[in-house]
Amino acid sequence: MAAAPDFSSLDPCVHCGFCLPACPTYLATGDEADSPRGRIVLMRALERGELAADDVALAEHLDACLGCRGCEPVCPSGVGYGRGLEAAREELFRARGLPPLAKLVLGVFRNERLWRPLFRLARLFRATGIPTALAGAGRVGFGMGMLAATVGWYGGKAVGSYRGRATGQEPTALPPYRPTVALFRGCVMDTLFGHVHAATRRTLEANGYQVLEVPGQVCCGALHEHAGDREAAQALAAKNLAAFGLSADYVCVNSAGCGALLKDYGHLLGTEEAQAFGARVRDVSELLAAMGPRRGAPLELEVAYDAPCHLLHAQRVEQAPLELMRAIPTLRLRLLPGSERCCGSAGIYSVLRPAMARAVLEDKIETLAAASPRPEVVATGNPGCLMQIGAGLRAAGLDIAVAHPVELLDASYEKAGMYEEQ
Ligand code: SF4
Ligand code: SF4
Repeated sequence: MAAAPDFSSLDPCVHCGFCLPACPTYLATGDEADSPRGRIVLMRALERGELAADDVALAEHLDACLGCRGCEPVCPSGVGYGRGLEAAREELFRARGLPPLAKLVLGVFRNERLWRPLFRLARLFRATGIPTALAGAGRVGFGMGMLAATVGWYGGKAVGSYRGRATGQEPTALPPYRPTVALFRGCVMDTLFGHVHAATRRTLEANGYQVLEVPGQVCCGALHEHAGDREAAQALAAKNLAAFGLSADYVCVNSAGCGALLKDYGHLLGTEEAQAFGARVRDVSELLAAMGPRRGAPLELEVAYDAPCHLLHAQRVEQAPLELMRAIPTLRLRLLPGSERCCGSAGIYSVLRPAMARAVLEDKIETLAAASPRPEVVATGNPGCLMQIGAGLRAAGLDIAVAHPVELLDASYEKAGMYEEQ
């Protein structure tokens, strides 16, 4: 029999309400039951058996939670909202399974023989240019915009278009010991964001790491875990653990959502081996920041950084992506109001609840549209955020690109001729 879900992380809640202004769904609906405090009351009622796990209203408000954990850092009592939500969603999953669409999507992500050909088709479709042409504000147009946003900041051009060493850029010495890094490839990142993997590899090597490829790895399981399907998440985590073993000093992730769960494999699997694995996981920005990183050539760009929730709130990685972009001379970096708030992507949330996902995104797009000077690029380190924000910008008719921070550093290094030294 499965262990009873553990809601003890919610114990410190004193119902002060400080978390309410940080909650995107509360800001969108103004309904207390869509706030962290309201949801904690519902989860407590579930724990005590006062509400059943198949209660429609309970499920509605817990399903509407983005799981962004924006409520955690602002809580003065240190409530572990994310752990409580995990427990509640596990209960809901046991009672009612998954809605048909979620079941279909998560089933595909569980099996590489399904998701890999599917994303390959998506990439072929992307190459026709049709998604870019049809990107817009309607539901289909928004979906097209999401796919179009996966092309990459170079717009599909080879990085070689930035060739030519910038004057005055003296290469700094590499460290004598070169730590080994195993690259976590993932599913969406490995298929639609291959250019980010390539940039990750090049920038890590330029900063003295040896990058290793690890065969046999699978999807991280974060989507399954967020949906309450713990068994599926554990099965995927066990495969990754077996694949990675002790292959390297670090495991590098460039997707914030995957990184948050990989770091938490110890909690998910409850073994020392998983704990040790989690301790070796780093976001790519952490690895690069730990090495400086080396400065590249100037890029004249106005960049707004938007923090992925699973990097900022779940992993508490705040400065590393900024340090990475500050290694690019003349790049003007800004944090716009609300840059710490969820964009509405939240794994498969934007597919299951498109209306709320769009409502949550709206503020961010309005802020970007009103910014002066207007950013040329929004940088963010998570595939879902790149797609959601990219589609939102296109739907609003804004000529602002989206890019992973390592893409920017990569272009700067390429321009500086740093890859010619290797
Ligand atoms: S979660 Fe924290 S901030 Fe929110 S009501 Fe409870 S104690 Fe207050
Ligand atoms: S996780 Fe995000 S959406 Fe859910 S209650 Fe907390 S702030 Fe609100």
